Amino acid sequence: MKSWEQLREVQPLAGKIMMNSFLKNRVSHAYLIQGTRGTGKKTFATMIAMTIFCPNVNNVEPCQSCHTCKRILSGNHPDVHWIEPEGKSIKTEQIRALQHEFGYRGMESAKKVYIITNAEALTVNASNRILKFLEEPEVETTALLLTDNGQSIIPTIQSRCQILELKPLQQKAFINRLMADNDIAINESQSRLISALTNNISEARTLHEEEKVYEIKDVVYQLIYQLIANYEDRYLFMHQTYLPKIKDKQDQELGLDLMLLAFKDILNFRNQRVEQLLFFQSNDGLLNRAIEQFSEQRLLHILQAILEAKQKLNQNVHPTLVMEQLVLRF
Ligand SMILES: [Zn+2]
Repeated sequence: MKSWEQLREVQPLAGKIMMNSFLKNRVSHAYLIQGTRGTGKKTFATMIAMTIFCPNVNNVEPCQSCHTCKRILSGNHPDVHWIEPEGKSIKTEQIRALQHEFGYRGMESAKKVYIITNAEALTVNASNRILKFLEEPEVETTALLLTDNGQSIIPTIQSRCQILELKPLQQKAFINRLMADNDIAINESQSRLISALTNNISEARTLHEEEKVYEIKDVVYQLIYQLIANYEDRYLFMHQTYLPKIKDKQDQELGLDLMLLAFKDILNFRNQRVEQLLFFQSNDGLLNRAIEQFSEQRLLHILQAILEAKQKLNQNVHPTLVMEQLVLRF
């Protein structure tokens, strides 16, 4: 995950607010983190939780490698609770269960963090419960409310939270910045691919220069070819080609990210959003075959399967197993 320094490059205002809060030891009881999809709301929430709990914080940066950080990163820390909508809304019972649990002291320490994703899905009753909760903040309890749509959060909640507004990322501007950088020899299609993986110039440069991203992209491309041309042998391909070339966990993650981009491209191309292609070139023959092969429904199913594979990898399920299961779901 990015450091606070790197987050501040992407989201200057929100990054600065949080870094200052930690430096001055003035962390609020509640934050409303709002921004459209892909602006890094969960990243911010995870970083805040890690900075609160990590025993090795350096200045404001959590180490991201200790047992505590790793558990927060994988969503398995007993004092960091994620609450998501059950069905279409976040219901009073969910909040009640949470409050019940918060009645006890922290399992590992006196601190607790709760993170409510899709906070716009809170029902009115659930909102009222949260309000009561925020009115009597327990010592060292931090609430992080995440939303795509700050407008739909009731004003009384808004007024009790410090608001962190995440700005939409300027991907096009980033691509141009990469290509204009004389220190980086990179072409347009490479910049598009890299811009989908990072918003940080120095990280982009490293990714590009290490070239691994292009090697992995090539294997992902072959996988998609395999699915189209020789579907029956996809499991064999996974063992004979994909896994031998993409071994360690970091590369596996990159492989899954690239797979997501490729299938999103196919979906976008189907829907004639050519300008949004990141993995493929619009004149790629495989892309044209892919839209004939994959229905929209199947693409959505595949994207979901890849997201779940990413989660499993994060939860330390063995990569070989994750990939075996994934390829069979395609
Ligand atoms: Zn740590």
